[in-house]
Amino acid sequence: MVSKEALALGTARSVIRELFEYGKQRAAVVGVENVFDFSIGNPSVPAPQEVNEQAMRILREQPELIHCYTSAQGDQGARQRFADSLNRRFGAHYTADQFYITVGAAAALCCVFHGLACPGDEFIILAPYFPEYRVFIAGTGCASVVVPPDTEAFQINFQALEQAITPNTKAVVVNSPNNPSGVVYSTQTLTQLSQLLRDKSAQYGHPIYLVSDEPYREIVFHGKKAPWIPDFYEDTIICYSFSKSLSLPGERLGYVLVPESVTDCKNVYAAVAGAGRQLGYVNAPSLFQQVTSLCCDMTADLSVYEKNCGILVPALREMGYHVVEPDGAFYLFPRSLEADDVAFSQRAKEFDLLLVPGSGFGAPGHFRLSYCVQTETILRALPKFKELAQAYGLG
Ligand code: PLP
Repeated sequence: MVSKEALALGTARSVIRELFEYGKQRAAVVGVENVFDFSIGNPSVPAPQEVNEQAMRILREQPELIHCYTSAQGDQGARQRFADSLNRRFGAHYTADQFYITVGAAAALCCVFHGLACPGDEFIILAPYFPEYRVFIAGTGCASVVVPPDTEAFQINFQALEQAITPNTKAVVVNSPNNPSGVVYSTQTLTQLSQLLRDKSAQYGHPIYLVSDEPYREIVFHGKKAPWIPDFYEDTIICYSFSKSLSLPGERLGYVLVPESVTDCKNVYAAVAGAGRQLGYVNAPSLFQQVTSLCCDMTADLSVYEKNCGILVPALREMGYHVVEPDGAFYLFPRSLEADDVAFSQRAKEFDLLLVPGSGFGAPGHFRLSYCVQTETILRALPKFKELAQAYGLG
């Protein structure tokens, strides 16, 4: 006998993985250049050269820093460098002991959810959302409450959010720049969100935390920056990852930041660390704690994402697709050309376009297109998108 829930998760692949695997099989038949795989969010640009140089230097010169345990919460020097970097960039005053270094944002989120969760608590997630939130929250035994999307701009559907908050709400999860919409929450959205959470926290007599999942923080277009969410709401807990900004998804490095402004911050931090212990996540990879903390003021060359976006959005609109303008990340979330997004994704496969149905992100009637691919692939895919639109009588 094994856990029913774990068995279900372990046997059924996610829709994204399913498409990704299909793409590989199809490539064996028609050639890899003829399959347009827009399913998965694997960064297509290399990590900065400095990352490789630091890794090699440490391997050569400081072997005592690698292959060994660090403190459970991460190396003190690395945490200090993460704090210094954010302090420089956001005029903040964070300290090393507010950081808990994790195996990517996935582990950061799990530590926060497990650290906060008490029986009967609810976590609110805003559609369109990263599908794994539901899996991570279910692992705590708590419920995720889904707020339907604002399909006009993919900001926040405040009317629905207000109704979703109850005395049991422990936290609201936000992700900006967003996977899958690419939208960055505006200062107006964040101001309104903060006010609502403050009012509701006062009404129910306990803090409603904001869990800010920020793997795409640095991927923002047109020279803009994503607003720094702790400046808006004091009860914000940050989950970060170097998977996308430094193009290091396989190295599994991220952190939780519990700022001093968070209610009961010392206990929240201790509970996050305790959750890491319960989950067996202590000590993120030692070498990359050093490397990322020495390179955390830089990013990979992210300009290809903006370039790809600048080609795709006008071209798709011209063909008749409805696309909300993204501000960052590397995803588009257009409306599917028929109401049934799963049927639409199936139809797209006939044109060797691998597009993920929106229902898995809590927003049926849409599809996600992950454009972290070579620009050349985008250009070669455009005629396929046109043929797909024509199959629906557009273009
Ligand atoms: N959160 C979001 C919104 C993501 O898109 C991803 C990965 O794609 C993660 C979290 C997990 O990131 P990591 O690779 O750091 O675990």
